[in-house]
Amino acid sequence: MGLVVYNTLTRKKERFEPVTPGKIGIYVCGPTVYRPSHIGHAVGPIIFDAIKRYLVYSGYDVTWVVNVTDVDDKLIVEADAQNTTTEELAQRITKDYLDAMATLHVDTVDIMPKASEHMGDIISLIESLCEKDLAYVSNGDVYFDVAKDADYGKLSNRRLEDQEGQRDLQSGEKRNAGDFALWKAAKPEEPDEVKFNSPWGKGRPGWHIECSAMSMRYLGETFDMHGGGMDLVFPHHENEIAQSESASGKPFAKYWMHNGLTKVNTKKISKSDASPEMQAALMKMTLHNLLEEYPGELIRYFVLSTQYRRPIEYSEEEIESKRKGLETFYRLFERVERICGTSPYEKAGELGEPKGPVSEEVGSGTLAATFDEQIAAFKRAMDDDFNTAGAIAAMFEIAAAVNRFIEQEKLETTGADAAKKDLLTAAGRLITVARLIGLFIDPPQKKSAEGDGLADKAMQVLIHIRQHLRKKKDFETADMIRDMLSEAKITLEDRPDGTIWRAE
Ligand SMILES: [Zn+2]
Repeated sequence: MGLVVYNTLTRKKERFEPVTPGKIGIYVCGPTVYRPSHIGHAVGPIIFDAIKRYLVYSGYDVTWVVNVTDVDDKLIVEADAQNTTTEELAQRITKDYLDAMATLHVDTVDIMPKASEHMGDIISLIESLCEKDLAYVSNGDVYFDVAKDADYGKLSNRRLEDQEGQRDLQSGEKRNAGDFALWKAAKPEEPDEVKFNSPWGKGRPGWHIECSAMSMRYLGETFDMHGGGMDLVFPHHENEIAQSESASGKPFAKYWMHNGLTKVNTKKISKSDASPEMQAALMKMTLHNLLEEYPGELIRYFVLSTQYRRPIEYSEEEIESKRKGLETFYRLFERVERICGTSPYEKAGELGEPKGPVSEEVGSGTLAATFDEQIAAFKRAMDDDFNTAGAIAAMFEIAAAVNRFIEQEKLETTGADAAKKDLLTAAGRLITVARLIGLFIDPPQKKSAEGDGLADKAMQVLIHIRQHLRKKKDFETADMIRDMLSEAKITLEDRPDGTIWRAE
């Protein structure tokens, strides 16, 4: 069937055909580095990182560009408020962003161009629009003349007439209310580092033109995928199209992909406190703080559990419920390691990407059959507009089949060595499938039995007492220990080779 992508431009799913056979260029609008990122800023990068991994696995040569907006009005205001330079602010916030991306395993971006380092590209793009009389100079500013762009509004489906008179009329300077700035003249009170030389005097570029210039610089005038949040459709992406296509006379991006926005569900956050202060605090919750509280893989898994075009509902309870799903896999991998004496993560490294049918790797008929069926389901989901939620559902089916195999073959007690070998291969293979969307790259950091010393020692005492009580048939007290631990979010698991504990 092949890959199908929903295109905002045509408002339908289309069969994907790259501009150049075998190659794909992707541009995703990156952060404006003036304030620490929040959860919403992580959604696009996580999704496109998964998309890139899958496209590379599918055989494409992919170049992925994410820009950094380090020249913008917001930076000037914030740097002034913090009594620092825009450069220092941009560097600090960019570092914070990159650290968060690394924790989330967003590590397939190829190029991260900064606006401040592309003034030449930006200025020559504006010049070519002026030469074609599609842009005009007014008081040192340069504006794009939307009235001269016949198909302006095609992405957001807005007609120019609808906008007239609706936008704030700071005009007198502008010909049409919808005209937007390509270049803004420097104001005397602004710091020197944001005053760039140009044919129109000192100033700085508008945000939209930065993205047009940098995307075309690295991916060519026509490239494959342009992504960003739904909130960027208008005016940002509409204006990118207008500028780029007017300048080049060619189609700009072929497929426009927009991810759903993050909704903070305050009702579910806390039954006791959904006050406005609480809401404000949550909206401000930075990625940095979030990643101190939750592992990066959990946030990534949380984002990928929803198809990218749908809104993501963020609340602590949603994250906790996803944690349970993720732990299903972690427990399976631990179980396999206990049985086989080797980590399935290690085995995954040996196996490499999934290629041929799993039946050639795993002897057992039913296990291999489920595997092949579910790997096909995984690919079908990803080929259907990158439905990562469907791909994760297939991973769950595989995990369930591997757990069933352990039971059937009694691998925790008396199982045969050949079956254990198959088990290790199967678990390793599951990891390699998950890695196609960037999950299970590294083993999770353990907080359980092998974890920090003192807690474990205390837990071993409790486990020992509980076993003793059960031997004496005092099940009531034994169960009380387990229930009280459960309330404290510590789980005891009785296994053939002893009891282990795990804290949430
Ligand atoms: Zn952009």
